[in-house]
Amino acid sequence: MTAEPGRDLAAEARGPLAILYKDLEGEVSEVGPVCQLSGRCCRFEEYGHTLFLSAPEAAVLIADAPPPVRPLDEGLTCPWQDLQGRCTAREARPLGCRVYYCDPVFDEHAPRLTEHFLGRLKALVDAEEWPWDYAPLHRHLRAAVERGAIAAPPPAG
Ligand code: SF4
Repeated sequence: MTAEPGRDLAAEARGPLAILYKDLEGEVSEVGPVCQLSGRCCRFEEYGHTLFLSAPEAAVLIADAPPPVRPLDEGLTCPWQDLQGRCTAREARPLGCRVYYCDPVFDEHAPRLTEHFLGRLKALVDAEEWPWDYAPLHRHLRAAVERGAIAAPPPAG
């Protein structure tokens, strides 16, 4: 399902997603993983993962994050990761970013938290009749550039 024309998905989803993200943050803080700014979470191809997110998460990310700091690519990296490995979209980052830690202490908790909060997200999407469109980040970003929701960042080099 794609977003209905004229519907402001970011405005509808911002509040409910903030509650979900806050609840997740509470559970993550109980585990207490340490982020050492390795940047692995955001260099997708190099570390063998793909960041998937739903349409409402993408709408909030695109509406609320500052402009990407690096060029869009075909899913190799995240354009919001700065040269120091920090996320420049931290407040607006999606669920997948919030359940990924390379601290081994988090390994046994990640599947449980991912399953639980993804389930909550899906239930919310169904209840609100939002589009789901669970897809890799770069696909959402390409679509956003095509419809003019974000400016295409400058090319690399
Ligand atoms: S939004 Fe932030 S945390 Fe998520 S992949 Fe991009 S830079 Fe990393």
